[in-house]
Amino acid sequence: MSEYNALYEKRFVLNLRQYSSLKTRIKNKVKKIISYPYNNTETLTDISGELHLIGCRSARIDKIFRIIFVICEECRKFPKAEFCLCENLPDNVIVFLTVAPHKKAYTMK
Ligand SMILES: [Zn+2]
Repeated sequence: MSEYNALYEKRFVLNLRQYSSLKTRIKNKVKKIISYPYNNTETLTDISGELHLIGCRSARIDKIFRIIFVICEECRKFPKAEFCLCENLPDNVIVFLTVAPHKKAYTMK
């Protein structure tokens, strides 16, 4: 039983549709993240030098593909988090921001 609730950004939904061959793997990973968001996921810093990915987490689909998400209870502790969409959301919400090959994912496309 998960104590987290999921929200999906439009970017995530559109990319999921685009990478349809990975759909099952992505969905399975999403389920795992919702159950245990801190397990086998890593915190991000400002990898690109342009985006404030601080507050975000990354999870691997395969060698190339990553899911980027925030856990509101964690993300809202970073005042500089550019992709914090947690305002007015409870602590137990996970916001899925994007899924893409890592370069695209880390630039939030
Ligand atoms: Zn946040």
